[in-house]
Amino acid sequence: MNMQGKRLTAASEAAFQEAKAYIPGGVNSPVRAFKSVGLNPLFIERGEGARVWDIDGNDYLDYIGSWGPLIVGHAHPAVVEALARTAAQGTSFGAPTLLETEMAKLVCERMPSVEIVRMVNSGTEATMSALRLARGFTGRNKIVKFEGCYHGHADSLLIKAGSGVATLGLPDSPGVPEQIAAHTLTLPYNDLEAVKLAFERFGEEIAGVIVEPIAGNMGVVPPQPGFLPGLRAITEQYGSLLIFDEVMTGFRVGLHSAQGLYGVTPDLTCMGKVIGGGLPVGAYGGRRDIMEQMAPSGPIYQAGTLSGNPLAMAAGLETLKLLGEPGVYEELERKSAALEQGFLANAEEAGVPSTINRVGSMICPFFTEQRVINYDTAKTADLSLFNRYFAALLDLGVSVAPSQFEGMFVSTAHSDEDIAFTIEAHRKALKQL
Ligand code: PMP
Repeated sequence: MNMQGKRLTAASEAAFQEAKAYIPGGVNSPVRAFKSVGLNPLFIERGEGARVWDIDGNDYLDYIGSWGPLIVGHAHPAVVEALARTAAQGTSFGAPTLLETEMAKLVCERMPSVEIVRMVNSGTEATMSALRLARGFTGRNKIVKFEGCYHGHADSLLIKAGSGVATLGLPDSPGVPEQIAAHTLTLPYNDLEAVKLAFERFGEEIAGVIVEPIAGNMGVVPPQPGFLPGLRAITEQYGSLLIFDEVMTGFRVGLHSAQGLYGVTPDLTCMGKVIGGGLPVGAYGGRRDIMEQMAPSGPIYQAGTLSGNPLAMAAGLETLKLLGEPGVYEELERKSAALEQGFLANAEEAGVPSTINRVGSMICPFFTEQRVINYDTAKTADLSLFNRYFAALLDLGVSVAPSQFEGMFVSTAHSDEDIAFTIEAHRKALKQL
């Protein structure tokens, strides 16, 4: 801080200049560059609980949480201890370990539809592998996805996607062959009629429908009543697989994830983020008869040098154990609901157009008066208002994702005081718009 109490970020600015000389755009994942909000990114030095510190020494109350994984906060002592204990025994073996079975068992216990599960290294790998499996299992090529949903950056899935692709306005990435894109049918989220029409026309060719059961990559957009059960019924009717991408929602919105919350059972589920406790992880699992088609039990190939890595298993297991303690999700719900109420009251007081969508600890204040139910309505948000709000919040010491098309993640490390502080910062930020 300088004498006027303004944040100084000279070290981050210099670090970004240097990074740009060696890393494309200065970052290893696009949205981190703060490009859409027209600011320099903050270089982070450390995190503890609900806070992060940048390399200039500013601290921020953090609602990015590494984009979802850190549901128990930064550097949770139990997670750090498990990592240290595990690392001391070696970091990777490329051989089976007991930790992997322990993880698989826990995931199968908690994720209602998962009978058997394979670990990979990222959400992208999980969805990419699940698609290959759906295609191999059904002998069909087409897949259905929804506009504004992001499922990682595999070729078949980078079509009208959300997340950074939406933020940067790059809906159809160069480098994806047309022949591959042609197999992806993209439909509006929450539009069961569109799904029915697509199946009437192409039903016999559709290997699977992949969906974020709560969309979290166009802001936060919950499924409307009937949407997920409708997808279940249609896919069953046509012999297609229903794939839930729970990379973001898995163990975030409840102990049994979105599929537990809505009582809909997919054939396959993709996971990531929370199950790695902040280390690189993904997983896909589901019906035994389908999953057994993967090598070595079946003919469909997928592999990974570091898959099931001991450190990732240790951090993920510790996180899942913490989440299994009584009352954890109830507390997350209580704090997140308080945040939502506070935001609503602030928006009303400031007369700022606002719609707040929330499911559990995923929350998104949209700068629009429209009900946000899909990508088109998410895009009615006023992005210039968002950008000014984002900058104001940072100056007040609150860090949210630098995009209107991302939600905020509340963690168990956010205290009631942190929530109150955030509501007050939000109020001040809206007043400045
Ligand atoms: N699916 C969903 C729903 C996601 O939110 C993400 C990442 N934000 C992914 C897949 C891709 O995961 P990763 O970035 O680990 O490849």
